[in-house]
Amino acid sequence: MATFQSLNFSNKKALVRVDFNVPLDKSFKITDDTRIRAALPTINHILGHGGAVILFSHLGRPEAKLKPDGSIDKEKFTLRHLVPHLSELLGRPVQFCDELRGNKLKSVAGALQAGEVLLMENTRFEAGEEKCDPGLSEEWASLADLYVNDAFGTAHRAHASNVGVSNCFDTSRKSFGFLMAAELTNARKVTDHPQHPFTAVLGGAKVSDKILLIERILDIADQIIIGGGMAYTFIKALGGETGKSLVEAEKIELAKTLLDKAQAKNKLLLLPQDSVIADSFSDSSNTQVCNSHEIPADWMGLDIGPVAREQFRTVLLQAKTILWNGPMGVFEMPSFARGTAFVAQAVADATREGAYSLIGGGDSVAAINQAGLDDEVSYVSTGGGAMLELLEGKQLPGVAAIEG
Ligand code: AMP
Repeated sequence: MATFQSLNFSNKKALVRVDFNVPLDKSFKITDDTRIRAALPTINHILGHGGAVILFSHLGRPEAKLKPDGSIDKEKFTLRHLVPHLSELLGRPVQFCDELRGNKLKSVAGALQAGEVLLMENTRFEAGEEKCDPGLSEEWASLADLYVNDAFGTAHRAHASNVGVSNCFDTSRKSFGFLMAAELTNARKVTDHPQHPFTAVLGGAKVSDKILLIERILDIADQIIIGGGMAYTFIKALGGETGKSLVEAEKIELAKTLLDKAQAKNKLLLLPQDSVIADSFSDSSNTQVCNSHEIPADWMGLDIGPVAREQFRTVLLQAKTILWNGPMGVFEMPSFARGTAFVAQAVADATREGAYSLIGGGDSVAAINQAGLDDEVSYVSTGGGAMLELLEGKQLPGVAAIEG
């Protein structure tokens, strides 16, 4: 497999799959450009080494939000919305082609000179994209000499733009970009060669979303801290009273199995001893702190309590490797954000003491950003679903297509 820096971009055209799936407001202004910024080092490297760049990406789910007449809403989902901001970030004009196939695209791409950038239209405007259509893949591949995949966010999907196109290039003409390589290196630091003790903090709403992750983590981590809504299914499995907390009744047996597995493997599985409970799912509800196993019938646990916070912090400060996925409570509401903020601070403090910390997963990323601590942890992943699948031990199609 070629590394990105070993590819010779001089006077070559590079087709770069980026993840420009950014949120837009009603007037199509970008509200968060993190994903575009994350791809800039890769793009600038190619331009700086004498190459021309053809960028392509999906944006939203145009195929799921068709117009009343059944056609794609091109006005809403066009990548053209991104051109002004991307030009500004790159400090050079960005050309745009509104055709995804045919002569127009071929001639615009063919005329590109070293240092120039072309942005293609939303890949999902083509039905063959999500079907990994070979004809479409070949047509896109024929536009360039080299292929670079920097779209970690879609690496768990086998689409034409990340898998089909990649298969058209031999291993000496394709590589990951900087972002994708960094995501893989950081995930593998945790999964393949973690320093011990390795503590995983898992939170979020449901056990059902994280079963595979918990099972894998039970194999590789030494301690597992479980917070957030999913803790209550475990507490119920232990015979606790959980009131109206989020409990997945059909997952109680599974939670028992996971608790037994942890015990059999001699792994510490920590649940919050106490909780901040509320009498309704609202930021302005009445709240109190109580033992997580004794939540009154009409109340629900919406955050970890002060004893749990301190206990989780103590365990985190002893760790050499930390993986954090999922908030400790309903952190979107200030009344239930303290546990998550406290854990974020503990992860940052442990990192300062020398631990390696990976923040993987959408909501924990939002939480670490909300706490302003994103620069104080080792790595914050950009890919929610892709990172989750990687941590679960799955082979990602977008990764396999480059690594072979
Ligand atoms: P996930 O996407 O699975 O990581 O879940 C994140 C969501 O879990 C956030 O929107 C939180 O508000 C929610 N959450 C965390 N703790 C709780 C809780 N105790 N009860 C209900 N929802 C929760």
